[in-house]
Amino acid sequence: MARHRIAWMPGDGIGRDVIEAARLALDALGVDYEAVPVDVGWECWCREGDPLPPRSFTALRELPVALFGAITSKPAAEAEAELAPELRGRGIVYRSPIVRLRQEFRLAVNLRPAKAIPGNPLNARDDVDILVLRENTEDLYAGLEYHPLPDGLRTVLEEHPRWAPFAELAAEDVALSLRVTTRAGCTRILRAAFDLARQRGRRRVTVVEKPNVLRETSGMMVRIARELAAEYPELELREANVDAFAMDLVRAPQDQDVVVSSNLFGDIVSDLAAQLVGGLGCAPSANLGADFALFEPIHGSAPDLAGTGRANPIGMLASTVMLLEHVGESEAAQRLERAVHETVAAGEILTPDMGGTHTTSRVAAEVARRIG
Ligand code: ATP
Repeated sequence: MARHRIAWMPGDGIGRDVIEAARLALDALGVDYEAVPVDVGWECWCREGDPLPPRSFTALRELPVALFGAITSKPAAEAEAELAPELRGRGIVYRSPIVRLRQEFRLAVNLRPAKAIPGNPLNARDDVDILVLRENTEDLYAGLEYHPLPDGLRTVLEEHPRWAPFAELAAEDVALSLRVTTRAGCTRILRAAFDLARQRGRRRVTVVEKPNVLRETSGMMVRIARELAAEYPELELREANVDAFAMDLVRAPQDQDVVVSSNLFGDIVSDLAAQLVGGLGCAPSANLGADFALFEPIHGSAPDLAGTGRANPIGMLASTVMLLEHVGESEAAQRLERAVHETVAAGEILTPDMGGTHTTSRVAAEVARRIG
């Protein structure tokens, strides 16, 4: 197999600590890879006024996959104050690198497995194994927001029968967000869910929406799910309202299989699912596009833990397992997953969030030792 070129993006805070665990694991596995450093994060913002400079975009266009640590973001005023003096007062605005990456590389599918590692003291149960797919580019995250309400938009809204209760409000007393759902977006995320369920030999796909209230947007997602389901006769399609689903997920997480949802509901449901199997320190994710994929733990940069050695590297190691599977290194992926599971099951070398007393690098070394 050809050498794998991986965009190496530690970012900020504990991102830098946990990505070293991935390096140790890849080295122990003997995978033929090249870690290509790509600049991203707070230092770039402070020095250059851009947390993801153009040269990073150029570098990423040449690479098929990225491993991403975490990035710090701060409120606008604080961000401005930390800019190099010559960059201040020039109207430079901080924009989240990860959101830009998702848009630029059309990383429409956010895959967030919530699989319990048996013996993890933070598990709600040991038999949870859920694949959550969240649409990554549309919905309320499309960024179509208005305040104050523009006159042109008011004219359109005045034709809508449901606008009557708001008709008398002044423009500055109304804020409006538009939920955008497209046939293409629904089809892409649902297709990904059905295909993944088929590939992994899963039995059921649950589409989590709220079509009884959001008749057009959630309604479109559910209607397309029904259309596509006909092509996957071996899979059961279930439809769940997001509120009832949240209760079900907590009541019996072991009964869930593949779950697919739009951007905002998917965000909430995937965080809830992650918490049932160890929470922030343990959860991996993948952002998948047609020709580029980015793998990252779900946690942020945790400035309180940066450099203390207290960050749990398991979310990053589980993200590395996903990356290895994606690039066709299934055997290495399985070996790494097994080493992580053994480390957790042994219950001795763990970070403080899991009740242990060991450091990030000590846990990483233990996983590498178990890889052999
Ligand atoms: P950001 O703005 O970068 O997302 P945040 O503080 O809002 O940062 P996280 O960085 O994800 O969110 O973390 C919140 C808290 O969870 C951290 O302060 C830390 O205490 C804990 N935490 C996050 N990641 C880990 C980890 N890998 N291991 C242990 N604890 C963690």
